[in-house]
Amino acid sequence: MELTIDQNCPSCGASIVLQEDDRLIRCTYCDVRNYRLESAAGRYLLPGRFPANLDESAMFYTPYLRFKGSIFYVHGAEVKHKIVDTSRLGIEADNIPISLGLRPQAMRLSPVVSTVAGSFIRQTVPTKSVFAQAAMVTELFGERRDRSVYHRAFIGETISLIYQPCYVRAGSIFDAVDYQLLCNEKLFENHLAVAGPGKASWEPRFISTLCPKCGGPLAGERDSRVLDCPNCETYWQESEGRFQSLAWQTVESAESTARYLPFWRITFETKGWSLKSYGDYLRLVNPPIVFGDRFDATPLSFLIPAFKINPKAFLQVAAQLTVSQWKLPEGKKCRVGNGYPVNLGQNEAIEAIKSVLAATIANKKERLPMLPEMVVEAEQCKLLYLPFIEQPHDLIQEHTMATILSAALRYGRSL
Ligand SMILES: [Zn+2]
Ligand SMILES: [Zn+2]
Repeated sequence: MELTIDQNCPSCGASIVLQEDDRLIRCTYCDVRNYRLESAAGRYLLPGRFPANLDESAMFYTPYLRFKGSIFYVHGAEVKHKIVDTSRLGIEADNIPISLGLRPQAMRLSPVVSTVAGSFIRQTVPTKSVFAQAAMVTELFGERRDRSVYHRAFIGETISLIYQPCYVRAGSIFDAVDYQLLCNEKLFENHLAVAGPGKASWEPRFISTLCPKCGGPLAGERDSRVLDCPNCETYWQESEGRFQSLAWQTVESAESTARYLPFWRITFETKGWSLKSYGDYLRLVNPPIVFGDRFDATPLSFLIPAFKINPKAFLQVAAQLTVSQWKLPEGKKCRVGNGYPVNLGQNEAIEAIKSVLAATIANKKERLPMLPEMVVEAEQCKLLYLPFIEQPHDLIQEHTMATILSAALRYGRSL
């Protein structure tokens, strides 16, 4: 479930209600659109209320890490997946709740800003181990990892820090949301000793959404990771606080009702595995067609969804398109009006390459144990819009017959 966040408009200060995944933020008061950067984990406060006359030095915030996304992992001869949506305490303390339960979803959160009174307890448990416990996948991330887990990747993730407001009174620690007694102050001494004020660098950052090339307004939806300029037909992706232009193409359809879905077309090099061309890859897949040396000069590229979708459907459509990509006509620079928003960034798509490879190759028992030796280095990442024909229950890519359940697509929007 998504979090709801109260944010002030960076342009006029009016209050706006956001969802955790929102990037493009439109203010209904000043009508300015800003883009929220995703460079660091978001930090939010639960809405606590401190008792009247409480000294500022008695107020503090305890960090919990929140994770939401899909994990793919290669275990034995199988590619498995799991959806994670959970929170977990980010410090070592036995006497306070290990998780926030439903609180983050049930309440309005606000971003941490440097003017918040009180001190912030520093996270002491490394994010990786908090995550492994929270997701109940210690066998994937722990010290003594299961030896038959050959690969793992976390895709479409959001990691945020949620702070629980607490206070000290008469030697005890209290929860400032429901005023329950948590524990004796002594048990928190070490954490309180190193607590400090919020930092300006923790605050959310925004950039303007004017096209860097022509100055026109960029278009997108609330969760778009890629914005486009309808005026000069360019596509932009944020990186290091600036919009960078993106190479893109569209495969056209003869059907006027086609729905265009975005994919990342990634060409890459591999070390440790001999996988130079599309022909090399097809020999590993061993499809029931005779292709000889026809694709030995074709560079290998993978087609990964540029949108969030449940993990099973994600792997399935990436596998179908990547294997049968030779059936796709050449793309053109032709902007589509009804394109689906890009809400999965290219770095996450690159992370998914090994899982798609593992899911598509034949002879898994023999080859998957060699997966850890393989290093993937992406060379080029292009946005490719592919036409899908809408059927009553699914969407079918007309050239390759790759299929996505309509329900999987709807579900992906709320992931
Ligand atoms: Zn505004
Ligand atoms: Zn432009």
